[in-house]
Amino acid sequence: MSGDEFDIIRRYFMPQQVARTDVLAGIGDDAALLRVSPQADLVVCIDTLVAGVHFPLDTPAAAIGHKALAVNLSDLAAMGAEPAWATLSLTMPENNSCWLEEFSRGFFALAKQFDMQLVGGDTTRGPLAVTVQAHGLVPRGTALRRNGAAPGDRVYVTGSLGDAGLALQLQQAASAALRQRLDFPQPRVAIGMALRGLASAAIDISDGLLADLGHLLETGGLGATIDVDALPRSVAFLALIDAPGPGVQPLYYELPLSAGDDYELCFTVPEQHAARLEQCLAGFECPCTAIGAIEARPGIRCYRSGGEPYHSAAAGYNHFRDGQHG
Ligand code: ADP
Ligand code: MG
Repeated sequence: MSGDEFDIIRRYFMPQQVARTDVLAGIGDDAALLRVSPQADLVVCIDTLVAGVHFPLDTPAAAIGHKALAVNLSDLAAMGAEPAWATLSLTMPENNSCWLEEFSRGFFALAKQFDMQLVGGDTTRGPLAVTVQAHGLVPRGTALRRNGAAPGDRVYVTGSLGDAGLALQLQQAASAALRQRLDFPQPRVAIGMALRGLASAAIDISDGLLADLGHLLETGGLGATIDVDALPRSVAFLALIDAPGPGVQPLYYELPLSAGDDYELCFTVPEQHAARLEQCLAGFECPCTAIGAIEARPGIRCYRSGGEPYHSAAAGYNHFRDGQHG
């Protein structure tokens, strides 16, 4: 198919006759932002996981239940929202009670962690696909958006990058720690909520840092510089991928830059909030790392810490361009 998913959305779903005043953000952000009360704005997102596309076919049912909810919680986190309600649409080839037991266990364990209630859905027979819609709340006017960054803002990411991509690449040979990162991503909900009033923009990293940071920059026609040596890599990642010697180490750089499925947050912070931010983030177990800065010149420019440019070959995963992964 020519064109990509974003072209499809732009061409067929963005043009419409209705433009309601209570829609603060419609198509184009991590979630829709709807003004429904004087106190709070409603944040709504939906994501589908298709077997063999979004998770390997050998993924345990508990992981599928967890991940279907986690990817939506990650979008809520990117908006700074507090999770509240979910609906679940489940299409599966057969009524397998062992599988359903495990799937629902994985789903509800994560839902409980965020005090989220499943309030409806749909169940049908067909090839395995799981769609979850998540709803969250933010105090009126405080949602994080993709479009607030300005030149000079610092760029941060939560956690570590490249783990899920490495697990996918290694398949059966991946370590348990890496496989855990792919199967049970931890949505950064608490950090997202803490970033209200501090971050100028935020997005979650589902398609890879370069692709998702690209979306964050797109709306303002902005650019960024990234220090590729500063990208956070986990102990599990570093156990398998050597730190760079004199030669080029493609995976060491390419996975954190362009592999998807990590579900970390990428956010920008104005210089004047940097001290308050560092103080606030010190309270979280999950680290946040400064990786670069926003610039007025469009495009993402990568550098090694020594200052020499790093040229990445990669763009993020795109469903209608790159074929299957997983
Ligand atoms: P994310 O990766 O954060 O889940 P996507 O890349 O899937 O976001 O989608 C980008 C934007 O396009 C989102 O605002 C999403 O709600 C919107 N979108 C995607 N598909 C459709 C569709 N079929 N109809 C309307 N909006 C869509
Ligand atoms: Mg997102």
